[in-house]
Amino acid sequence: MKKKILYILVTLLTGMLLSTQTKAQLGSDDAETGCGASEFSLGLLFSPPWAQNHEYLFDILDKEGYYTTSDSLDYIVYRIPIKLFVYKRSKNPLVTDEVIKTYIQELNHYNLLNRTGIVYYLNDRPEIETNDRKARLGYYLEAPWISLWNYERGCVNVHIAEYINKGKGTVRGTYNYATKSAFVKANSSSTSLAHEIAHHFDLLHPHRHWKRGKMRQESVDRNRKIKFSLFRHGRNCDNNGDKLCDTQAEPNLTNFVNKQCEYTGTNTDNWGDAYHPETNNIMSYPTYRDCRNEFTPSQIAVMLAAASKSRHASGWKVKNKGQNVNQQLNFDFNEPDNTLKMATEFKMGERQWHSFHSIYKGKRKKSAVDVCDWVRVYIADNKPVTLRLVSAQAAMPTVSLQAFNSSEKLVSTESADAYTITIPSGFEGQTVYIKITNKSKNPYSDYYLEWVK
Ligand SMILES: [Zn+2]
Repeated sequence: MKKKILYILVTLLTGMLLSTQTKAQLGSDDAETGCGASEFSLGLLFSPPWAQNHEYLFDILDKEGYYTTSDSLDYIVYRIPIKLFVYKRSKNPLVTDEVIKTYIQELNHYNLLNRTGIVYYLNDRPEIETNDRKARLGYYLEAPWISLWNYERGCVNVHIAEYINKGKGTVRGTYNYATKSAFVKANSSSTSLAHEIAHHFDLLHPHRHWKRGKMRQESVDRNRKIKFSLFRHGRNCDNNGDKLCDTQAEPNLTNFVNKQCEYTGTNTDNWGDAYHPETNNIMSYPTYRDCRNEFTPSQIAVMLAAASKSRHASGWKVKNKGQNVNQQLNFDFNEPDNTLKMATEFKMGERQWHSFHSIYKGKRKKSAVDVCDWVRVYIADNKPVTLRLVSAQAAMPTVSLQAFNSSEKLVSTESADAYTITIPSGFEGQTVYIKITNKSKNPYSDYYLEWVK
């Protein structure tokens, strides 16, 4: 109990500190449009091991197999659970289950696209906050408080709010370093979640401190040396901005990118060099967020380093020295699919792989097991349709099968062999939903879903 009170006090103090730091450092940079994450991090207050040390970053990439594995599905080092908190407005959750599925799938899309080595799964059904008034969160007090009280261990905590009010404007998302929780505005861009979660794994904005003087600003010139001081040495780009040299120096791109994703600014840095930034970095603020799709190798290394330093690293890690470990965490990318609204499309003639995997719940709790999968089938003509489950690599799960119409009315159940289900005729032009419930106690099982006729 004492520990909790102490933690709350420290968090409050930190929150206050963060507020002042943010105001002082950001000015109006991020109002209205930015992600609002403070440019200040407790973890980064002390120089991280990768600052001024590029070899360290390349070593991580090398060690984790980044250079030797080209297939992004083969190169997954961590599978990390996410806890979602969804707020309500007028008694309705701000985002539907369909949207939540899109969020998680887009998050994994950008991570796989860039081969970050990290993918994410929902640790549970999203928690729906019952109090309507909490949908619009204040940046300085409400967001820290609510994320402190609702914090879940062993996963990345993400809150989906209607607004995050900051001063006179709102921000699209933010990351609170004190409570280690991300906030995303409902219906924001497809890279918002990837951006905020990347803050959780120590990434900074490439435009950090771009309005500052020569001591703090990142120079365009990659070879410019920092003015010597007791704690800082080496190149400017290793020390300033996001402290990574493979992300270009850049101004806050909010007003400097056109619809074709071209940089339109004419700014120069403090040494008179014109900026020529990329406009697609996921940690940048281009005018059109759709321009974003990239993490650089250094950024990937920083995220891997941060994940490896977490006390939950062993509960997330699935690849160690090139060998697969914790295979019970091997979720399929049809996920999340635990509700009717999250059902994955299953097409005629298809064969789809699904797994019932283990869900890491932190060091103090026993892991949970995935409970069900939903798929949806479009019935084109007036004939019965039969689907069956067949064995894949691991243990075959014991299951029950149920088919529902779109009003969630039961229309069929499994046949005597327990692994086949027939949707009777009469559903022409409709979508039917199949629920596959995991009834085995295995920590891990998997199967293929096949179209029989
Ligand atoms: Zn940000």
